[in-house]
Amino acid sequence: MKDAKQHILMIDDDEDDFFLVNSLLQDVAPNQYHVEWCPTYETGVAAIERKQHALYLVDYRLGRHTGLDILRHFQHIGYEAPVIVLTGKGDYAIDNEAMMAGATDYLVKGEIGGPDLERAIRYSIMEHKHLQTIAENERKYFGIFEKSHDLIILADCNKNIIEVNPIARKKLQYPREELLKMNLKDLFMMEAEALQFLLDICEENAITQKEFTFKTQNGQKLDVLVNASKLDEKLGTFLCVAEDITDKKREELEKQHQEKFVITGRIARVIAHEVRNPLTNILLAVGQFKQDMPTAQEDAQLYLDIIERNCTRINHLVTEMLQSTRMMELHLHEMDANEMVHKALSLSEDRLQLNGIRLKEDYMEEEVKLLVDEEKMNIALLNLFINAIEAMTPDEGVLRISTAHENGKVYIRIADNGIGIPEENKARLFDPFFTNKTKGTGLGLTSTQNIILNHKGTITVESKIGEGTLFSIILPVA
Ligand code: ADP
Ligand code: MG
Repeated sequence: MKDAKQHILMIDDDEDDFFLVNSLLQDVAPNQYHVEWCPTYETGVAAIERKQHALYLVDYRLGRHTGLDILRHFQHIGYEAPVIVLTGKGDYAIDNEAMMAGATDYLVKGEIGGPDLERAIRYSIMEHKHLQTIAENERKYFGIFEKSHDLIILADCNKNIIEVNPIARKKLQYPREELLKMNLKDLFMMEAEALQFLLDICEENAITQKEFTFKTQNGQKLDVLVNASKLDEKLGTFLCVAEDITDKKREELEKQHQEKFVITGRIARVIAHEVRNPLTNILLAVGQFKQDMPTAQEDAQLYLDIIERNCTRINHLVTEMLQSTRMMELHLHEMDANEMVHKALSLSEDRLQLNGIRLKEDYMEEEVKLLVDEEKMNIALLNLFINAIEAMTPDEGVLRISTAHENGKVYIRIADNGIGIPEENKARLFDPFFTNKTKGTGLGLTSTQNIILNHKGTITVESKIGEGTLFSIILPVA
């Protein structure tokens, strides 16, 4: 059975004092305390190291040592326990010194009666327990804060950031001091979203599971799912927990693209089949007609030419559409990513020169292998280079090409300082036949996207009217 008594260790070189204290305690609270006695500093220290007592009563005078030495030993071995220092005479300086050294209480021998002594012991033990519970909770919650996979951000009533956890600092790429100078609204990519966020918080006092886009210090996008709530009604502090869903969103988008491609591919095949058959018939008939009636009126000949030309064009378009959207057979081989980009770029050298375009290349240093169909990749990249060149003003254009390697993926970025793409066109950019060029086919990007997707990669676009366009390709490392 567990012993319900509180075990107390008294370190005191005077045995009479020990008897006195023990009998005072037993009188006030019979059988509640078991007091053990150590007469010297050395035996006391050895007993402390066993860490078996609920409280320590320590005499200030201990031969060559003092109670302060005992207190220091507690600190030295990192043992936190309640310690009451006893001394023969009331001395404010000793009392103060003992408190600074970590004593829980200070009692003057001979001046205290049994009830006071018992109360001091009981309160000290209880207070110590409370402090331990608080410290434990703090450690626990601090652990959650420190190790959380979600960004945890605390803000004051003005939404100024007052604390951030390590993952928030890492994901937002700011040092802590910088973040502590910022407001929650500074974290958003778009002002409209920041305003919406603040409005929601003001009106509802909370935000549950809402998607926003944060901006890192480097200007990168960070898609987050946010839960926010008031932490302290009186202080008006806010807790904002944000889950990084950037990868999740990108994967979703990839899946959507893949699905869209399967569908467009199927539609294209159906159209090809349905349109091409009658077209072929028309063409055959027209050819025959021309052969049979060489002397037909001039007008008739003209019309026939038009019919023929247009049918040929339709046929051509259908073939191209089919080619640009079908799941292709790839002839894959390993190739260095930088080399691949560089080779494709050399194919557009003439065009670059002709248009006076400046080229800025920034390749990663390491050699990273990709598994690619070189010929198809050349087409995919060339389409992007040509589009960029066509979007820029001759002699003012700057084409920036960069490669990077992160998390098992190769990033190829192609940026121009051309006319940019209006927001409303972005969604249709990769659709077959979408073009705003008089002689464009609108199949370049369709084909590029198809090739990239067939390589299990993704292609995305960012653009600002009048500033330029950035196409980013992500490909898996071989
Ligand atoms: P095409 O070049 O034949 O028009 P694409 O599929 O290659 O067809 O491109 C579709 C459209 O996308 C282009 O007509 C152009 O409006 C727009 N576009 C593509 N790349 C860029 C770019 N770098 N800058 C501005 N607009 C672009
Ligand atoms: Mg094009």
